[in-house]
Amino acid sequence: MMIDLESLLEGGCERLTLDESFDLSDEALDGVFPFTTPVRVRGDVVNRAGIVTMEAVATGVMHFVCDRCAAEAERTLSVPMEHILVSALQSEDDADRYILVPDGKLDLRQLTLEDIFLSLPSKLLCSEDCKGICPTCGKNLNEGPCGCKKEVDPRLAALLDLFES
Ligand SMILES: [Zn+2]
Ligand SMILES: [Zn+2]
Repeated sequence: MMIDLESLLEGGCERLTLDESFDLSDEALDGVFPFTTPVRVRGDVVNRAGIVTMEAVATGVMHFVCDRCAAEAERTLSVPMEHILVSALQSEDDADRYILVPDGKLDLRQLTLEDIFLSLPSKLLCSEDCKGICPTCGKNLNEGPCGCKKEVDPRLAALLDLFES
């Protein structure tokens, strides 16, 4: 999905409204395909005195496998996409700060995908207080406690021994 920004970069127009939907269902993350429904990008690209900025938000739903309990889960995405777009880089260092738009063509789909992946935490959890799985029996503890004896703090264990004897 290429967005033509040539006129905007050259100052021929000052604002371009973005409202695009992408099918990202063939994009994999850690072996799963997170996007079963289209991702939508809304916002605009503005030329203010020669500085071209993009301010948009990508919204959608992504499916994933919880890093702690391995259950399937989904999260609603609302990812800000804020970039400065340039038609040429002044120096190599600028590559990190600016989005290069050669020939005025912005690959919005690719940028959206990168912004979404960069916005994700290093661990994706089904919920903030996911209890994970029992290391002994493998039961998903979000579904209820298992029959295994709890691992007890050694200091507390010494105390419990006193009571039991
Ligand atoms: Zn979980
Ligand atoms: Zn258990």
